[in-house]
Amino acid sequence: MTDKTAEALEVWIDQDLCTGDGICVQYAPEVFELDIDGLAYVKGADDELRQSPGATVPVPLTLLQDVADSAKECPGDCIHVRRAADLVEVYGPDAD
Ligand code: SF4
Repeated sequence: MTDKTAEALEVWIDQDLCTGDGICVQYAPEVFELDIDGLAYVKGADDELRQSPGATVPVPLTLLQDVADSAKECPGDCIHVRRAADLVEVYGPDAD
């Protein structure tokens, strides 16, 4: 098994499935934020939300566990964490 933590990862949210409960924001407020539309979006190091569909931000290594836990706990199954190099999902509904 490859070491997931050694590779650059990115995360995106499928807003079509987001329930707006805010669990991800509780886990990793540096990466996730609820917008005024009541849905969660990823945000970059510049604190700007990425609102185009499928937009990704890099996962800071220090926040990987929190982001991975968010993907596992997300009631909408709509947080996708994937390797930047080959876009293979490592946490989320499409992970092995
Ligand atoms: S945990 Fe999932 S369903 Fe809940 S607000 Fe975050 S992205 Fe949306």
